[in-house]
Amino acid sequence: MSTYNKPGSKRPSYSSGSKPAGSNSRFSSRTSTSGPRTASRSTSTSSTPRSSFTGSKTSFSSRPTTRPGSKPFGRSPYKSGSSRPSSNRGGRGGKKSSFERIDVSRFISKATIVEKEEIYLPTHTFADFNIDPRLKAAIAHKQYIYPSPIQDKSIPHALEGRDILGIANTGTGKTAAFLIPIINKILLNNKETAIIIAPTRELALQIEKEFNEFAVGMKMWAVSCVGGAPIFAQIKNLRRGCNLVIGTPGRLLDLVKRGEIDLSTTRNVVLDEADRMLDMGFIDDITFLLEKTANDRQTFLFSATLPKPIEVLISRFTKDPVRVIVKTRDTSKNVEQDVVRVARGIDKIDVLCELLSNSAEFKKVIIFSEMKHAVEKLSNELVKRGFKANSIHGDKRHNERQRALKAFKEDQIDILVATDVAARGLDIPDVTHVINYEIPQTYDTYVHRIGRTGRASKKGVALTFVS
Ligand code: AMP
Repeated sequence: MSTYNKPGSKRPSYSSGSKPAGSNSRFSSRTSTSGPRTASRSTSTSSTPRSSFTGSKTSFSSRPTTRPGSKPFGRSPYKSGSSRPSSNRGGRGGKKSSFERIDVSRFISKATIVEKEEIYLPTHTFADFNIDPRLKAAIAHKQYIYPSPIQDKSIPHALEGRDILGIANTGTGKTAAFLIPIINKILLNNKETAIIIAPTRELALQIEKEFNEFAVGMKMWAVSCVGGAPIFAQIKNLRRGCNLVIGTPGRLLDLVKRGEIDLSTTRNVVLDEADRMLDMGFIDDITFLLEKTANDRQTFLFSATLPKPIEVLISRFTKDPVRVIVKTRDTSKNVEQDVVRVARGIDKIDVLCELLSNSAEFKKVIIFSEMKHAVEKLSNELVKRGFKANSIHGDKRHNERQRALKAFKEDQIDILVATDVAARGLDIPDVTHVINYEIPQTYDTYVHRIGRTGRASKKGVALTFVS
């Protein structure tokens, strides 16, 4: 029994059933014998030479750090297509306009008693994969022992050059599922290039980080091209040459139009979280970028859902893809979900602060709010009231967002206040609580939000404020 309340106090009260047994296995799927669904939490008061991928404005010979053996890309004059201004876009619109009426009971789930655990039994080990020994060593160094289901099912096909369609969301190990085959290709031929397109800067940088961890000492390079970060630094890096560009659609489009990225010889393409990019209005940009890549490319497309426009992209830009479905359950059984009721006349911020200071269990908390200014205001108020908090949202400069994320990941702050777009796809270990300070606009957003906690078989708690 865990209690977030002292008897007699006017704090939000809550008591839960037994906790799930802890498990260290990362990619296990659990079978839950669900306890009764009861609404319980409520409150009434309360310079090494590099290789191939480069822009074209300066020739290699003018730069001492240019990678030998790589040929400069020619400027690719693009005439047709999107005429929209494309610089510095981290997302367009960013939010679904439709507001879905969600039954409050869907925010409550005590079904977290886990008695049985089904461990996924991979059919391969990493040693089985036909990959370079240096890459096997890098995988071992990252302490990946067994392939996750998506890796297990897709990597053998990807290594044979097949296109992959992965129906999977964050937390399934999809990043390594595409990075491992691509890195292996580059190890075989250092002129190989790849473009990885992701919906948000944070996700793009996370992919870059994972790539850099794998590629230590392999003399292959990635450049991140994300909106909100200085474009000239990215251009400088591109001109030095690289194998991978990882970026958000708007910025990538900008760089292609400026002739800094030539995709005509790029034979490896990854679309990560394609449905999110669609939601954010990036479909034309993606189509434009895909059209620029080489015809004999290998394409990896990951999406949690398959709306019609994504099906169209698939049929247009992939060749007989291997379909791998590794959908995590709608809402994780590891996440205990409950509502916090705020009575009329009571200030929500007071209830939140009571809740946060009432229990030591709130160790690492993400609080979601809808609007950028509301996120900023809430974060400032929490700091004023003595909490270690910071915020991420679209109005913050790229560096500020990165600083806040780093501080949160490294436990220098306990609370991160975020908008949905800014937090999309983030993989932050050990988040103990997700708090929906406002009801999300759609149930899909809710599922996405609460997926920030209860990861890697750990228990998490999701609380939604309702009035
Ligand atoms: P992703 O879905 O790619 O964001 O991955 C989720 C988390 O799982 C990341 O922290 C990865 O580093 C981790 N991960 C990916 N593959 C494996 C694996 N085979 N074994 C253990 N951890 C993994």
